[in-house]
Amino acid sequence: MSLAELSPHYIRAIAPYQPGKPISELAREMGLDEAAIVKLASNENPLGVSPKARAAIAAESDELALYPDGNGFALKSALSRKLGVGLEQIVLGNGSNDVLEMVARAFLAPGTSAVYARHAFAVYPLATQAAGAIGIEAPARDFGHDLEAMRARVQRHTRVVWIANPNNPTGTLLGNEALHAALAGFAATSAVVVLDEAYVEYLDAGRRAPSLEWLREFPNLIVCRTFSKAYGLAGLRVGYAVCRPEVADLLNRVRQPFNVNSLALAAATAALDDTEFLDQTKRVNDAGMRQLTEGFARLGLDWITSAGNFVAVRVAPGGDAMPIFQALLRRGVIVRPVGNYGMPEYLRVSIGLPEQNEKCLTVLGDILGGR
Ligand SMILES: *Cc1c(COP(=O)(O)O)cnc(C)c1O
Repeated sequence: MSLAELSPHYIRAIAPYQPGKPISELAREMGLDEAAIVKLASNENPLGVSPKARAAIAAESDELALYPDGNGFALKSALSRKLGVGLEQIVLGNGSNDVLEMVARAFLAPGTSAVYARHAFAVYPLATQAAGAIGIEAPARDFGHDLEAMRARVQRHTRVVWIANPNNPTGTLLGNEALHAALAGFAATSAVVVLDEAYVEYLDAGRRAPSLEWLREFPNLIVCRTFSKAYGLAGLRVGYAVCRPEVADLLNRVRQPFNVNSLALAAATAALDDTEFLDQTKRVNDAGMRQLTEGFARLGLDWITSAGNFVAVRVAPGGDAMPIFQALLRRGVIVRPVGNYGMPEYLRVSIGLPEQNEKCLTVLGDILGGR
């Protein structure tokens, strides 16, 4: 008997998450200078870390011999003030990925199912599968979530509905009215709804869903957010869920006691106050989105209109984007292939600084022009 057979069949069937290629790895493989490599592959903040977060990390580093606050009181208090929700409604995670895993642990098991959309964030099928539950994929509408199709696929044994808004890797955004109507529909089922708002900070205020207000109306709603994207703290791993206290209580039962480390807690608390950094992040993103999409238009490429800090561009209509991805790598530009999302013609490009976007466009133009 092989050791692999000791593991449940649903664990053995997992196709591992494929992260973006690190700069150091590409430098090693291609013999390139790290400083010359542009990584637009993981939706990271090109401005780096907020100065306030950096200072908080330095101050906290004296305390590293001590366990972190397992309740995350300071960060939860800051979030509670900023978001207008109770402390008992907030669950902190080691990245919001950790929160998604907690939802799966708390609500899914063999014999249950979860519904997600085609082209939706890859962690949803992964977390569902790791819990031994059945994943039900609803078809997409114009690359976005088709909420009616998702509702139609909820069954008696469905316990989780995963919604990304905006979605990664498509960048598609649901209208608030349609989303609210869908939440009302899901409230009549025996499933919790995860509304994953990892990119909410990139939306103009007028386009943001009043998702936290909807918690009063929909007890089965779980809103997830992260410090990895607009807050620039992807390397530290902090995210959170906001939900009803009784749901938070369930998530806390499956949460590791010290799941968020002390540097992450301190940095996130400080970053939350750094509105200047957040505003600058949005300005840079808006300008970079214009720069990239105008460049795509000049190259005659289609893209999916995105509300996030990334954009999926159709570099190989009717074909396979992988050779173009590889050619970009050889020239020191790392983007993300999305064939595993059922989008083989597309590459996902994260919005970078102006010179990074420019390099990406120039190299892409060279590659496409030279064929
Ligand atoms: C990046 C991302 C996350 C999670 O990121 P963490 O770093 O784990 O907080 C969650 N959902 C979506 C849709 C994402 O793109």
